Amino acid sequence: MRGRFMRVATVALTAAALLSQTLAAAPAHAGPVAEKEWREVFSPDGTISRVLVPVRRPAALSGEQIRAAAAAEVIPLQETGPSSQRFDLVILGDGYTAAEMGLLRQHAESKWAEVAAVEPFKKYKNSFNVWLVNVVSNQSGVDNDPYGTTRDTALDMTFYCAGTARLLCLDTAKAQAYAAAAPQVDVILALGNSTTYGGAGYSGISTASGGNAQSGQIAIHEFGHSIGGLADEYYTAGTTYSGGEPGEPNVTTSASGAKWASYIGRATPDGGVIGAFQGGSQYEYGIYRPSDNSLMRSLGRPFNLVGLDVMDRAIAAKAGGTPPGACDGLGQRRTGTLASGATAYQPDGNWYYTGASGTHRGCLDGPNAANFDLYLEKWSGSAWGTVATAATSGGDETLTYNGTAGYYRYRVVATSGSGSYTLGYDVP
Ligand SMILES: [Zn+2]
Repeated sequence: MRGRFMRVATVALTAAALLSQTLAAAPAHAGPVAEKEWREVFSPDGTISRVLVPVRRPAALSGEQIRAAAAAEVIPLQETGPSSQRFDLVILGDGYTAAEMGLLRQHAESKWAEVAAVEPFKKYKNSFNVWLVNVVSNQSGVDNDPYGTTRDTALDMTFYCAGTARLLCLDTAKAQAYAAAAPQVDVILALGNSTTYGGAGYSGISTASGGNAQSGQIAIHEFGHSIGGLADEYYTAGTTYSGGEPGEPNVTTSASGAKWASYIGRATPDGGVIGAFQGGSQYEYGIYRPSDNSLMRSLGRPFNLVGLDVMDRAIAAKAGGTPPGACDGLGQRRTGTLASGATAYQPDGNWYYTGASGTHRGCLDGPNAANFDLYLEKWSGSAWGTVATAATSGGDETLTYNGTAGYYRYRVVATSGSGSYTLGYDVP
């Protein structure tokens, strides 16, 4: 597990303080100490706030339970390289029955697509391995969806956690046990089988509604904490920060933003230019953030330039620098050399057959100074016909095609220029 996820302020309250509304006669300064912690709450309009919730310590699992969870089926949604040089994102499901594993996969793929559309995940998409653990629940759906309903599910997910409707909590010990089925765990995204907006952030785990199109934004914000070590940039009105200089790279007590001096005045992806904006890390006054409204303040926004560079460096440090080529992630590999104007058919001057319907992915890594193009062809029964084309002006091309069973081949064309190429492809 990397980084830290949860902004936990553990607050000790006496039993008297906690129970004063229900127990009139509780003695002061006596009885057990109850712990509370802050948990972020996300709204569909993008605003983020926090609530103080009782610390819930999950019951320890038995060795047998841990072994059973760790034996769950794992599907690589994307495997781009050895885990030692990749970020390993593990996606779990809760409230998906055995018959709903297809739905879970669909939800997992769409959530990863949502994450991978945002920089720097887009740039570093191929620096991630994405593992889906097929967590099977006895019943479909999660607790309190709608309020008052309960279901028997593998990770005990529930809305209305600590009384907050959109707070989607789970049993962290069970989630970690299932995640251990994956080859490596850097961060966990647990999806609840629901279309209701909601989620939550824990240390190394974020939750989201699998069937809600917006809820993946929650995970992206949480990755800002866990991968980049970024502070929140939102605040509670009327609060003043009184501590020392914070350790996080995107908040400072300096009203001139000296911490990110080299960024001041530069355009930032979330709009405007980098400066020193008062408010951040939960406090309205006495602390400053680099931009007005980045995704560390509101969901659905880009990282600001300061946060983006921090994220970029963090991912590059783990994933070995430059993002790997798009072709690196594809299972099949062929190489060749073409003279200008020449054509090659792959694989191996031949074709491949698939008995399955699904996505064909092809990627051509050609000479940088040349224009190489890539075509996917399918056998109609009497002739080869082009079903997908990737023909930009450069040497590199990618294509995807959703097709039925049949015979396929790639046509690689050196439209101008010559040299060697690598073709990567996946067969459904
Ligand atoms: Zn946050």
